[in-house]
Amino acid sequence: MLFHSTRGKDKNKTFEQVLMQGLADDGGLFMPDLWPSVDIERMKTFDSYIDVAKYIVPMFTDSSYAKDEVLQVLDNTWHNFECKHLIEINNLDDKNFVLELFHGPTLAFKDFGLQLAAAFFNKTLESQNKTAVVFGATSGDTGSAAIDACKEFKSIKSFILIPEGNMSSVQRKQMTTVDKSNIFPILADGTFDECQDIVKRGFKERSFISNDQYLLAINSINWIRIIGQICYYFYATLKINKFDQPINFSVPTGNFGNVFACYAASRMGMPLSKIIVAVNSNDILHRFFKQNDYSKRKVIETISPSMDISVASNFERLVYDFYLDSDSAKCRKLYSNFPEEPINIDDNIWSKTENLFLSYTCNDEETFECMKNFSNKFNQLIDPHTAVAYEAVERLKDQLHHNTVILATAHPAKFPDVLLKAGLNLKDMPERLKRVLNKKEVAESLSTSDNSIFDYIRKNN
Ligand SMILES: *Cc1c(COP(=O)(O)O)cnc(C)c1O
Repeated sequence: MLFHSTRGKDKNKTFEQVLMQGLADDGGLFMPDLWPSVDIERMKTFDSYIDVAKYIVPMFTDSSYAKDEVLQVLDNTWHNFECKHLIEINNLDDKNFVLELFHGPTLAFKDFGLQLAAAFFNKTLESQNKTAVVFGATSGDTGSAAIDACKEFKSIKSFILIPEGNMSSVQRKQMTTVDKSNIFPILADGTFDECQDIVKRGFKERSFISNDQYLLAINSINWIRIIGQICYYFYATLKINKFDQPINFSVPTGNFGNVFACYAASRMGMPLSKIIVAVNSNDILHRFFKQNDYSKRKVIETISPSMDISVASNFERLVYDFYLDSDSAKCRKLYSNFPEEPINIDDNIWSKTENLFLSYTCNDEETFECMKNFSNKFNQLIDPHTAVAYEAVERLKDQLHHNTVILATAHPAKFPDVLLKAGLNLKDMPERLKRVLNKKEVAESLSTSDNSIFDYIRKNN
């Protein structure tokens, strides 16, 4: 299986090339040359997430690794989860289920994709006898998941920009209390967008790394992260109905990586009814699915900060595969003037949206209300991101047939201030977070308006 870019120019790439490169050279996103299809009867015999991963992951890696090597990697990939099966499924009633994806070491679903990424980064670096610098900006959970996933690998140094502003102090402390010599959290005096710009410049100039070193991206456009997420959609469907019926998934959405993984699973043969794209007040995706308006607006800070985006980077993959029938010339054209010009899909083509997608936008007030209602009704807490997805299901339930799975992407304890404001009481703080809260924070404070971040990386690389 080889990979190509949504914009057509970068193609015939191996898994390893796509893994180490991240974004395609022509500015597009990598896609597999074809969708592998699963044998559902075979999948019915599986029991665990790892069983599913051992079946799915090798479908994408055969251009670089023998199957046995991959299986060996997968035996040791996902670690430090709090529950035996990595994921818990919580039955709310006979139709609705919460897929708890927050039992990993950083208490958010991003551990699934980033632990897989780190395992294969390390495998590649070992086989090529090279080292790498991870460089990224985070608005919340990506940074901590990347730091945690890479911290035990000596060949990888991680430099993560933490913007001023909106993330929770728990999220920040997860990055600044790690205390490892290959981890460098940087408190940057700028917004998330300004940090992203620095990261983009870094990837262009590459001035702080040596010629034989890799510079690795951890943002959600890396195909490897999608693979790790595809696996839990199959796992959830297996556990809930053994693939006997199509199923709905409600996904709290930011950069669209998680939704795209759900879509990918359905392309590979998972019976799917509807995907509910649930967003906060940053509603570009809702505007698109509701009225074919994909135009960039300013970011609004919300109580679900990991979904505060102005454009959804993985959305290009859906445009290419679902709306444009894999026509890369059309995709390149659509994106050539974006975000200055909005993405305009022909109305006839856009109308197929309703076959698969529903969407909902939920502001902070509604999110607070939803967290309270959920607690009253089920005597459990959900985090503000999960609440957005739950609220969407409540609002859209007349349009939902079959079972519905709500993705719980973060543990509520990561957002103590939001809980407090909602008047909700966290009964037990997970041990792993308690440890973080009591540790001393260590981070370098640097400016985004000069070269000090690059100088700092050069000095410590
Ligand atoms: C990253 C994140 C999201 C958004 O996921 P995307 O794949 O970017 O759409 C939602 N919830 C939480 C808790 C996250 O950390």
